[in-house]
Amino acid sequence: MDHLALPLARYDALPDALLRIGPRDIRSVFPDSALIELTGLAGAPVFLSVLLHGNETTGFYVLQRLAHWMRTHKLPRPLLVFVGNVTATEAGVRHLSGQPDYNRIWEGGRDREHDLAQQVLAEVRAAQPFAAIDIHNNTGLNPHYACVNRLEPEFLHLGSLFSPTLVTFNNPSSVISMAMSKICPSVTVEAGKSGDARGIERAFDLVLDTLHLHAFRASGLDREVSIYETIGRVELARHVSFGFTETSDADLVFPADLERWNFTPLEAGTPFATSRVPAPVLRVLNAEREDITERFFTREGEVIRLARAITPSMLTQDPQILREDCLCYLMRDIAAPVKA
Ligand SMILES: [Zn+2]
Repeated sequence: MDHLALPLARYDALPDALLRIGPRDIRSVFPDSALIELTGLAGAPVFLSVLLHGNETTGFYVLQRLAHWMRTHKLPRPLLVFVGNVTATEAGVRHLSGQPDYNRIWEGGRDREHDLAQQVLAEVRAAQPFAAIDIHNNTGLNPHYACVNRLEPEFLHLGSLFSPTLVTFNNPSSVISMAMSKICPSVTVEAGKSGDARGIERAFDLVLDTLHLHAFRASGLDREVSIYETIGRVELARHVSFGFTETSDADLVFPADLERWNFTPLEAGTPFATSRVPAPVLRVLNAEREDITERFFTREGEVIRLARAITPSMLTQDPQILREDCLCYLMRDIAAPVKA
């Protein structure tokens, strides 16, 4: 293990050069992870984190939009920006091999990335922020949605500024939004696939609207939202081969249009996959990482069916995400806990 601390560079402005580069050139502007402190007219700062995942470029384009906007406007509130994994951004990957996932380092650990996270957390805590926004993309077809770790009105208000589709989760617990939720209202935005222009627009608007917001609603919600609670995370068994066409000769075969199921309610009995190997191929884990597979899937011969009605999210056909992270999350919709 390398004990040399990872550098965290400090800035007090967004460099002009940011407007002239693409995400892969990020290190010409930010050679290391960076904390940028931008002054605003009044009030507590908004904390914004971008590029925790190097290939999720919407956060980069939001920073560019901000730099452009700030040429003619003053920030209504201070803004504290953390630019995360710049070496992965340069390489165009989620994280480099040998690096941990930068959105799984926020609840302590022994690597120097954990130390970096603790350093950022200490600074954010000291700044007593008004809100925290973390910008991400996903690989599958999903609507734009916002994830909150608490169902309190302030969190729901913040999430609803991005999208009427809200997801609550507490697994994995080592994500930045979870750490931030102990400090201030926080949100993770999933702004579609990298480069999705509407996702960039929406994420930028969220940052701008939050900067202009005087206070969060402390009770009630002033708009219609759908709230989904994540109740399981579906992982693939190791060493199982998988495919997405009926003609695939893989051990485990999913429908070709699997991603169309994201945020779509599926009924009990829906055929979910075909398995040609007798051993368990899918595993559903709850937040405590207990195996709860039997509540969700049943098997008849080679066919794996849903044992109950469920709404999946983040289903992806990206083999790297599938192997490294998970196949999808399983959600149920819940009533908004606060009424307008
Ligand atoms: Zn991400």
